[in-house]
Order: sequence, then C-alpha cells, then structure tokens
Amino acid sequence: MEATNPPAASTNAPLKLGAALQLLRQSGRDLPDRGQIGDAPWLQAVIDALCEISSRDPLTGLANRRQFELALASEIDRVARAGESALVLMIDIDFFKKVNDTHGHAAGDLVLKGVAQALADCIRPMDTVARFGGEEFAMILPNGPPSFGLTVAERVRTKVQGRSVLIAPSQQVSVTVSIGGAFAPQWVRSSAPLWIERADQQLYRAKAEGRNRACLEQPTVSLVSAEEKGLLFGTSQFQDLE
Ligand code: GH3
Ligand code: MG
Ligand code: MG
Repeated sequence: MEATNPPAASTNAPLKLGAALQLLRQSGRDLPDRGQIGDAPWLQAVIDALCEISSRDPLTGLANRRQFELALASEIDRVARAGESALVLMIDIDFFKKVNDTHGHAAGDLVLKGVAQALADCIRPMDTVARFGGEEFAMILPNGPPSFGLTVAERVRTKVQGRSVLIAPSQQVSVTVSIGGAFAPQWVRSSAPLWIERADQQLYRAKAEGRNRACLEQPTVSLVSAEEKGLLFGTSQFQDLE
C-alpha cells in the first residue's frame, strides 16, 4: 500500500499560539514581558524565545546538537572559501556512569552542568561549544593555528579536571574528560560527518590510551599552491592574459 504524505505546511495554517506558549512554559520560561500581549513586539519576543529553546540544550544551557551541526556546516563553508584553519574537539566525560551509579542521576546532572560551565569558560566569542549528547560535548574553534591545537585541547582538559562540583552540602565530585580533535582540511569542502568522525577516532584513541588526555589528528599539509587558490577564486594572473 502506498504511504500517505503528511499535509504540506500551508500559509493558511492557523498560528497555534497556544501551543507555542505551552512549549515555552514546558521549557521553564516566563512568558515574554515585552510589549502588550498579542502586539508585534510581544510576538517577536515569543519567536525569539522559541528560537532560543530550539537551539539550546535545556540541562546545560549550551548549544544543542542541532545548533552545533548548523555552526559546523557554516564553518566548513568558511574553511573551503577562505582556507583558514578550524579545529573540532569531541569531549567525553571519563567513567561518567560511575558518577550516576555512586551518587545518583540528579548528582550526575549537576556534574554535567559543572563540566558545561568549565567548557564555556574556555571559549572565545567566535567559538561554539555544544552538548553533543549524553555526557559528550563538542567544540568548534575557528582560526586556530594547527600548532596550537594540542595546547588548546590541554587547556580544556585541565580546566575540567580542576573544577569540582558541589553535589550535596560538603560533598564535591570532580571528573576528567578525554578529548579527540581534528582540523578541517583547508581549501577543501569537507562534510560534517567526516570531520566529526576524524575527531571521534582521536577520542577513541584518548580513551584507549588511558583517558584524561587529549589526542589530535596530525593536520594535513595543504598541497594547494597560491596560484591554484587564485584559480579557485577566479583571480589568477592567467586570466589577465586572455
Ligand atoms: P567512558 O570513560 O568509556 O566514556 O565511560 P562512561 O561511563 O563515561 O561511558 P558510558 O557510555 O558507559 O556511560 C555514559 C553514562 O552517561 C550512561 C548514561 O546513563 C549517562 N548519561 C547520559 N546522559 C545523561 C544525563 O542527561 N544525565 C545523567 N545524570 N546521566 C547521563
Ligand atoms: Mg564517557
Ligand atoms: Mg560517551
């Protein structure tokens, strides 16, 4: 039997404002206090709040995976266009299951928030840090010279290690992370899954080598000459001879 397609979205579809407001309430947000209920500034505030909840992880407040993938796609574009370097780090908490098993899931949640805060403290305004899923986080660091990659990853690792989280009065927990990193190939349009996969391979290596460490893929040397780069952008000197 042929599957029936869901009805296509139509511009005549009624705006389900009630449903939108319910989503905001469920995410623990107050309704907007901008403007008068129903007027344009108020509706804009509702839309802004909906955008915010669709891009943030509710537990940690970091970018969610969807937002991370959007940021990664635009970074791939920038690297292919401008040939600048960019580093992706995949960051996984070590033995996190043990934290849950020993102290309970609620304490585990507090630890996740603490790690998220430590990661957020490490980044520059142009960087992205996201909760990739479960106890795994990811970072995009544009414009970092490959020679600084390991230093940056080590800074992140030690920041998490040095932070303890209060899970109950006078009870602190600290965790470590393993980090895998890979640079995007410059002047080449990579794909998000391939780039993440390369960083993930380094993360597996960091786990296998004992955890609480950072492993980075050796950056590939770009074999594209200055002349070829010129051709890519239609600025070659040969064009002037035509
Ligand atoms: P490894 O060092 O190999 O990464 O070990 P691990 O224990 O960190 O990894 P494993 O994949 O065995 O366990 C991850 C745990 O993370 C299991 C899961 O219950 C827990 N977890 C995932 N999401 C959440 C969450 O939102 N809150 C809490 N408290 N725990 C979570
Ligand atoms: Mg883990
Ligand atoms: Mg994991």
